[in-house]
Amino acid sequence: GPLLEMRGVNKHYLMGESRIDALKAVNVQIEPGEFVAVWGPSGSGKSTFCNLIGLLDAPSSGSVHFLGQNAAMLSDDQRSALRNRAIGFVFQGFNLIPVLSALENVMLPLQVGQASAQAARVAALSRLAEVGLTSHLAHRPAKLSGGQQQRVAIARALVGSPALVVADEPTANLDSDNALKVIALMRSISKSDGTAFVFSTHDERLLERVDRRIMLHDGAVVEDRKAPAGALAL
Ligand code: ADP
Ligand code: ADP
Repeated sequence: GPLLEMRGVNKHYLMGESRIDALKAVNVQIEPGEFVAVWGPSGSGKSTFCNLIGLLDAPSSGSVHFLGQNAAMLSDDQRSALRNRAIGFVFQGFNLIPVLSALENVMLPLQVGQASAQAARVAALSRLAEVGLTSHLAHRPAKLSGGQQQRVAIARALVGSPALVVADEPTANLDSDNALKVIALMRSISKSDGTAFVFSTHDERLLERVDRRIMLHDGAVVEDRKAPAGALAL
C-alpha cells in the first residue's frame, strides 16, 4: 500500500472571528521512494501540507494514514514514536545546533532515541559521507556555507533511516546554484536508498527536477502530475 495517504483532508485555522481554509479537500497518496515537490505561492498551504504529512499537526477533517495507520487513532505518544522512527525533517533555516559539530548534530537524533554513542557515530559518519561532508565532520554550523549546512541537516534527517523525509522550503535560504545541488542530492539519495522525499518550494525551476509535482493554489491541489519516464536528466 501507499506510504502515506491523505483522504478528504481539510485544514482551517481560526483567527478571532475569521476562518482561513489552508487546505481544502486534499486527496494525495505518496508511494515509498517517491521524490515529490509541493509547489505553490506564499500562503497556498505548503507548510500546512508538510505539517500534516509529517504528523506534526492534525487535519480539521479527513484523515492522514501513514504506513497504513490512521494518525488520529494513535495516542500522542504512539504518534510521536511513529514520527521519530519513520519521518525525517529538513527545514528552511537548517535548524542545526550551533555549539555542536556537524558530526554531533547528525548523531543527536539517535542519541535522543537511546542509541549507543558508538552506533550513533557509525550511522552519522555514513550519512555525512552520503552528503559529501566527510572532510567537515568537526566543523560547527557557522563554519559551513548554507549549502553545506543544509547537507548536514539532510544527513541528520536520514540518520534514523526514515521511510519519509519532509522538507518545508529546504532551498529558500540558498542561492540558485546551491538550491539545485541540494535538490539533486536529495533526489540521488531517494533513488539509491528508496527514501521518499516530499519538499515544498515556491521556486518553479525546481519542478524540472522531480518525479512528481503537486501544485497548490489557495489550499486546493490544482495539479498532481508525474514526470514522463526518462524526462529527468539528472
Ligand atoms: P505556505 O507555506 O504556502 O506559505 P501556509 O500553509 O503557511 O502556506 O499557510 C496557508 C494559509 O494558512 C495562509 O493564509 C496562512 O496565513 C494561514 N496560516 C498558516 N498557519 C496558520 C496559523 N497557525 N494560524 C492562522 N493561520 C495560519
Ligand atoms: P507532541 O508534540 O507531544 O509529540 P503531537 O505533535 O504528536 O504531540 O500532537 C499535537 C496535537 O495534534 C495532539 O493533540 C495530537 O492529538 C494532534 N495530532 C497531531 N498529528 C495528528 C494527526 N495526524 N491526526 C490526528 N491528530 C493529530
